[in-house]
Amino acid sequence: MLMKDKLSLVAGVANHRSIAWAIARALDREGARLAISYLGERQKEGIDKIVDQLQKPPLLVPCDVTQDESVEASFASVQKEFGHLDSLVHSIAFANPEDLDRRYTDTSRQGYHLALDVSAYSLNVLARGAEPLMSTGGGIVAMTYLGSERAIARYNVMGVAKAALESGIRYLASELGEKGIRVNGLSAGPLKTLAARGIKDFNTMHKQHAERAPLRRNTTVEEVADTALFLCSNLSRGITGEVIYVDGGYRITGM
Ligand code: NAD
Repeated sequence: MLMKDKLSLVAGVANHRSIAWAIARALDREGARLAISYLGERQKEGIDKIVDQLQKPPLLVPCDVTQDESVEASFASVQKEFGHLDSLVHSIAFANPEDLDRRYTDTSRQGYHLALDVSAYSLNVLARGAEPLMSTGGGIVAMTYLGSERAIARYNVMGVAKAALESGIRYLASELGEKGIRVNGLSAGPLKTLAARGIKDFNTMHKQHAERAPLRRNTTVEEVADTALFLCSNLSRGITGEVIYVDGGYRITGM
């Protein structure tokens, strides 16, 4: 068992389709004890219905990454219950739907700030909360997407937020490495989740991915979760500051 007696915080479960939920299941399968953070009561109701799929009952903590007090309270709960953390999964993003619909050129100032706050700065906030709990080192993994480095239609300000997130991964990795804390990104191919529904033409993106990726199929959430598990576990102990693509090879393709 890769995560036997390990303690993990997974942030970003909205429902059973969430990438964070698949990662939680993979960590649980390998023996980790989990804390799962959720945004609001609506998400909590959904999580309450699926938590019995886990082998061990998780600690559920509310956490809105845009509110410092909320983040502090959630880490205080983790500290009280676990006293320690071995891994942290950041699987959080948000942008105003209208900023994904219109031209990137016309992104509003408020929409730009919101997307970068929720989707990129939040990694600083969570890493800072986890740092004192990772006294024996640890693995931090953040979910990202190819729109960080390519101009993908309709991804717009979220692509800019992912670029900031990926750059942040490198800075955090370079600072936290001396404490044995590794920070990596996982760039997934398109998956049908709640967040993906906010992207117009997502179905076209999904279909084209399967046609063009070298593996000639879509990425599955289970293969993303297994790579996140690898990045959280000791198997990846020599890797930090990287972004690993789990996209069937789509990123290497050209015309
Ligand atoms: P999802 O909607 O299930 O997860 C997004 C999560 O972000 C939700 O749990 C939501 O509650 C949380 N969130 C939003 N605002 C928040 C806030 N203020 N505070 C705390 N949490 C907040 O969708 P998903 O597809 O599982 O997305 C998870 C991550 O994976 C995101 O970073 C997304 O960009 C990334 N990703 C998704 C895909 C895809 O195709 N679905 C591909 C690559 C990367």
